[in-house]
Amino acid sequence: MTIERIGRRAWLRNGTLVLAAGTLSSAALFSDALFADDDHAELRVGLVTDLHYADKPPAGTRHYRETLAKLAEAAAEFRRCRIDMLVELGDLIDAADTVETEQRYLTTVNREFSAICDDRHYVLGNHCVDTLKKDEFLGAVGQSESYYSFDRNGFHFVVLDSCFRADGQPYGRKNFQWTDANVPQEELDWLASDLAATDNRTIVLAHQRLDVSNNHGVKNNADVRRILEASGNVLAVFQGHSHQNDLNEIGGIHYCTLVAMVEGAGEENNGYSTMEIRQDGTIRVRGFRNQSSREFV
Ligand SMILES: [Zn+2]
Repeated sequence: MTIERIGRRAWLRNGTLVLAAGTLSSAALFSDALFADDDHAELRVGLVTDLHYADKPPAGTRHYRETLAKLAEAAAEFRRCRIDMLVELGDLIDAADTVETEQRYLTTVNREFSAICDDRHYVLGNHCVDTLKKDEFLGAVGQSESYYSFDRNGFHFVVLDSCFRADGQPYGRKNFQWTDANVPQEELDWLASDLAATDNRTIVLAHQRLDVSNNHGVKNNADVRRILEASGNVLAVFQGHSHQNDLNEIGGIHYCTLVAMVEGAGEENNGYSTMEIRQDGTIRVRGFRNQSSREFV
């Protein structure tokens, strides 16, 4: 108990120490009291992204089959620290030649994912709806909508879907270029009214990035950011897609990009995190393996 309290003070007061630890990837670090669970967190969320599970040989740096073992390690940590909620930020599966094979990949990885936590949320990634159509993916994981919102322990969460072409057509059956990611007007209107209807501090969950204007960015993400900033309630956006750690602050909102689970061979190249939110709005990301640790207010 005492050790945990000392650890927490070290985390809060010594920014250099936090930063140095966050850049290391050894899981041994997390037995240190510095990384003890935050007893004051209102909510603890398990986060994974870009699992790209597929029963096929590695391609480049992507080791598709190893995702199952990496997910099992993440699951053990999520169970140990008793997450309240589980989120995957997109690209749960990778492409197959046929719809049937891709559905099999999804069934296999979701059997493991869905066993971790009852309260779970799926953000659509471009690879989730490459061959599959959105209703096929969502039907298989038991989620009714691709974009929606909900409240947990006094915080508001928004799941966004940027898997639309510039002409408004939803992705599916290989009908899109991955760089053509957009949030259509109808979803923008929904987002604005959804945020206007809540006073709760808000966390946004997305796949394609809302903070950059390169190929990994949603093409009209400036429109999305304008809505998020106008609400005055949005604390942070968590996103994936570019497979690398990143953190930007734009207009008072933190855009935290999480590392891809599929990248690299071996358990040392895993990447996952728990995100803990305190009542005062402090957000702490405890990164494991290649995932950076973060803390911001
Ligand atoms: Zn990906």
